[in-house]
Order: sequence, then structure tokens, then C-alpha cells
Amino acid sequence: MTMHVVIIGGGFAGLYAARRLARQPVTITIIDRQNHHLFQPLLYQVATAGLSPADIATPIRARVEDFPNVSVRMGAVKRVDLKAKLVELEDGTLSYDQVVIATGVRHSYFGHQEWADDAPGLKTLDDALEIRRRVLTAFEAAERDDDLARSADLTFVIVGGGPTGVELAGAIAELARYTVAGEFRSFDPHRTRVVLVEGGPRLLAAFHESLSKAALTALERLGVEVKLDTKVTNVSDTGVHMGDVFLPARTVLWAAGVQGSSLGRSLGVELDRAGRVKVNPDLTIPGFPDAYVVGDLAWCAGPDGQPLPGLAPVAIQQGEHAADNIAAVIERKDRRAFKYWDKGIMATVGRANGVAQTGKLRLSGFIGWMTWLFIHILYLIGFRNRVIVMIQWVWAWVTYGRSARLITGIPLSPAKRALAPAQVTAPARAPAPEVGK
Ligand SMILES: Cc1cc2nc3c(=O)[nH]c(=O)nc-3n(C[C@H](O)[C@H](O)[C@H](O)COP(=O)(O)OP(=O)(O)OC[C@H]3O[C@@H](n4cnc5c(N)ncnc54)[C@H](O)[C@@H]3O)c2cc1C
Repeated sequence: MTMHVVIIGGGFAGLYAARRLARQPVTITIIDRQNHHLFQPLLYQVATAGLSPADIATPIRARVEDFPNVSVRMGAVKRVDLKAKLVELEDGTLSYDQVVIATGVRHSYFGHQEWADDAPGLKTLDDALEIRRRVLTAFEAAERDDDLARSADLTFVIVGGGPTGVELAGAIAELARYTVAGEFRSFDPHRTRVVLVEGGPRLLAAFHESLSKAALTALERLGVEVKLDTKVTNVSDTGVHMGDVFLPARTVLWAAGVQGSSLGRSLGVELDRAGRVKVNPDLTIPGFPDAYVVGDLAWCAGPDGQPLPGLAPVAIQQGEHAADNIAAVIERKDRRAFKYWDKGIMATVGRANGVAQTGKLRLSGFIGWMTWLFIHILYLIGFRNRVIVMIQWVWAWVTYGRSARLITGIPLSPAKRALAPAQVTAPARAPAPEVGK
């Protein structure tokens, strides 16, 4: 009988695993709670109205339509029973011969899940559209509010100075300074404050120090206020506390931490503190040779003994490696240990500015950005997406335009619904009680 492989998650790790394995004599079921594969590295562009959702996401079905042995099931997996080799979905159960678990990570609020409503993170298209709605609505509120409320309307706080925080801060500053600069009548968008708060001593901690400095300089040139060595101690719908200091802000965005997806906890196996599943060198779960965990959800040691970072190339290579090891099982060969080919890291810092490092090579400024641009276009899945994104970026480069400046969707929570565009009121100024100091 043909081997049945279930792949949970159609992100980088899951999709690349499926495509690699599809030419083997197996049947494959990909399960994902979304119907699309998402290119997360460009999510911040959707959140800041530079690109539209369809530019960076494609239906998972379309990506595997050429493989008749691969089927896609949309649904959320609740639990994997590793002993019984069963995958439990919200609407049924599937059995497997081999399973690849690739459900990634979610934001972590370091024990303050109650901040989630007031400080959304960026992980899914829904997150990006919610952030876009909040950012654009803040400018609309500033147009009609009085001066006192306006200063909170025009203050954007981004918590976390890693690549996502840096990219969001740069893009929002660019939006305010250039894109909407001449469009409002009651205020000058140059008054916008973009405040990037980082708990550590420098931005982009994973990069070489010289690139952290280059990013800091580029952000400050764009008018972003960067607060280093500063911990956010409370978030509310009126702003953020940083110790004794309260900063009124209508829009707070979270880019400070991640934790393994909840499916990892359902396995009953060893996890690290961030909820990632500790895997064997061949990417299987200890004690369960038919179950692999790959991508962001996996805790897999690199050559220095430290866990490999949560990056797309790690997820892609691990997905493909798990597929190769499953093929090895079919061919009765030995499974091989995973070795990561480090291709480097990169981030954008506002308009036509970026940082990139690979090995000893460090690039910043325009060249850093060109490198970033080339790699991101190259890895964007789908020819249509590559062409459209190129056109949008050339257009934005020439005009400073952000073509997706549309306020859509309803606020996520009842509290936020009260702040929908038609009913925006000035946020109260009273500081919220401080917690978690
Ligand atoms: C904003 C942002 C920017 C980034 N920028 C970069 C960058 O510039 N360069 C870089 O290399 N990396 C970047 N990354 C990291 C990179 O995107 C991740 O490392 C990569 O997506 C991990 O792939 P994955 O397949 O493990 O998980 P994901 O791509 O997150 O895929 C997980 C999939 O599992 C599905 N899923 C989750 N739970 C369930 C469930 N219970 N049931 C069914 N399906 C489920 C999800 O819907 C999703 O499709 C960025 C990430 C973010 C969020």
C-alpha cells in the first residue's frame, strides 16, 4: 500500500517538504488552517499599504496542482497522537504513516496576553490588514480630533527592534513623511512620531554591530525615535508604559517575541522555553521516528550548539531535508542529519535602504537594499507575484506612493469596535495601572 504522509502547515517548511516529496511513490495530505501559502518577509509591506494581500500569498492548492498525489485539506489541527499515528482536526481525524509538523510560531507577549488587543503582532495576512487599518485610521482620526488627542493619534509605538520592528518603523515613517504628506488639511503629517522601543542595547541584535549602527542611523534620518535598553512594562488602549514613563499613543504594534504554535504543546514531548519542539539531528521527534518537526516550530541545534534561527531559509531547507529522509525510509536507506547552509540575514530600513550580511560580507544602505530586494523577489512564490511586486516597487520608488491605502475590515475586539472610523473619539489620557515591571 502507498505510504500516506501528512504535512501539517503549508508555510515555507511544509510546502517545500510537499513539493520535494511529491515525486516519490507516496500520497500526501497538506493540512493548513489557511487556504494560502504566505510570504511572511513581505507582510510589513501589506501592513503599511505598500502591497496587497494577493501580492504575497498564493493558494496552497495552486502550488501543488501539478502533483496528483498531493491533496490539500483546509482545517485546524488540534492534536497529533504520536503513538496512535493520528492527526485530530476540528472536523475529523486522519491517520498517517509519516507526519511532518510545520505549524510555525505565534507572537509572545511574555506572559501578558492581555496586551494582544492593544498591540497586535504581525504574523498572518489578517494581522497585516488589522495593522494597516489601525495605521490609516489613526491619520483619519488626527484629521478631525483636537490638538491634544491628535498627538496620541499621530504617535506610533513599535515594540521590538528586530527586523520586523525596524521594517515597520521605517515604513510608517516613510508613509507619514512622504506618502500622505500633502493629503491632510488639519495637521502636518510631519508631526507624526514613530517610536521604536527595544529592550536590548542595540537594534537588529542578530546582525553585526556595524549594521545595527547603520540601521539606527538610517531610522533616525527618517525621524524615527529609537529607545534602546528600554522595557515596555504595560500596554493599554491609551499608550505604553516604559517603567515610570507613560507615552500616549493610539497605535502600538508588537514585534518583540515569538512562541511555538500550540500544536507543539499537544505532542507531549520535550519543548524549549519558547515552546519549540526539540528534535533529533535528522529532524524526527525523539522516540517517534515517523514524526518530523521542521521550520520555526523546531528546536534544532546549529554547528555552535545554539538553536537555528526562525528564518525562511532554515524552514525551506528543513522541509526539504525531512522529505529526503522520508524518501530514504522508502528506499531503505539511512536517514541523514540536517546541516544548515547559512545564506545570511537581511532587513530593510525605510526607503531604498537596507542591511545584509552573509559570512564576512556586510552591506548597508542602497546596496544592502538592492540585495534584500533581489533575494525577496527571487524567493517570492509565483511568477505573477514577482512581476506585480517589482512593478509596485518601481512605482513606489518613483512616486513615494503606497497603492493599498484602503481602510477595510472591522476592528477585532469589542473595545476596538468602538473606535471604528465613523466613531473615533479621543483616547482618554489617564495612564493605565502599571504591571509586570
Ligand atoms: C513579519 C515577518 C517577517 C519576516 N521576515 C523574514 C525575513 O526577512 N527573512 C527570513 O528569512 N525570514 C523572515 N521571517 C521568518 C520566516 O517567515 C519564518 O521563519 C518562516 O515563515 C517559517 O516557516 P514555517 O513553515 O516554519 O512556518 P510558517 O511559515 O509560519 O507556516 C506555518 C503554517 O502552519 C499553519 N498552521 C499553524 N497552526 C496550524 C494548525 N493548528 N493547524 C493547521 N495549520 C496550522 C499556518 O496557517 C501556516 O500556514 C519573517 C517572519 C515574519 C512574521
